[in-house]
Amino acid sequence: MTEKRKFAIIGLGKFGFYLARRLFENGHEVIAVDTNKEIVQEIKDYTTQAIIADATNKETLLSLGIDEVDTAIVSLGTRMDHSILVTLHLKEIGLKEIVVKAITEDHRKILEIIGATTVIFPEKDMAEKLALNLSSRNLMDYLPIAPGFSIMELAPPNGFIGKTIKELQLRNVYGVQLIAVKELIPERVNLVPSPDAVIKESDVLVLMGTDEALKKIEETA
Ligand code: ADP
Repeated sequence: MTEKRKFAIIGLGKFGFYLARRLFENGHEVIAVDTNKEIVQEIKDYTTQAIIADATNKETLLSLGIDEVDTAIVSLGTRMDHSILVTLHLKEIGLKEIVVKAITEDHRKILEIIGATTVIFPEKDMAEKLALNLSSRNLMDYLPIAPGFSIMELAPPNGFIGKTIKELQLRNVYGVQLIAVKELIPERVNLVPSPDAVIKESDVLVLMGTDEALKKIEETA
């Protein structure tokens, strides 16, 4: 079990909704906020607390206990003005981790300037990941290094997501060695990753082992 953390999801469109639900299912505390009554009603059973509120009001945010969460995620769709204002409030309130969904490059720049710790741009991020996967296939995908022995890139199987490298016990369970984690968000290659690093859905695992062991792990994906 990963460490239980406290999240606030502000804006429950498709993105916020699925994120809130998955974080809650993963055992975390989730406060969800939206102005839309129907959506709040719908997410109720999948959160610790679901509230109808306008997040652009700083006092409202404070009254919801937003200052006590570890991470806030802001996803207000096309309301760029709202997402900028909410991010500013969260920064002033002193949140350490503020993840915001941007809808344009300019929006992303503004969010970075006012202090969002992570800005995501799902359509762009996904398109780049897909392009990377499609174009790097056959290149690094499978690299034989000795007879019967290879290095393989693999998108993490569902059961790996949210777990730490230590918890996965890849050597004991599958007989493979994790040599790097390619992270897309933020984009970097994490060589010799820390045992405490948590696997994200957007990561690519670089694994080394016998062809047989690699095939086995690939089949679980
Ligand atoms: P996304 O792609 O980010 O999920 P959507 O447009 O599908 O975008 O959803 C955005 C959600 O944000 C809507 O449910 C809307 O009601 C909500 N929202 C917009 N402005 C505010 C606000 N000021 N406070 C709370 N929720 C808001």
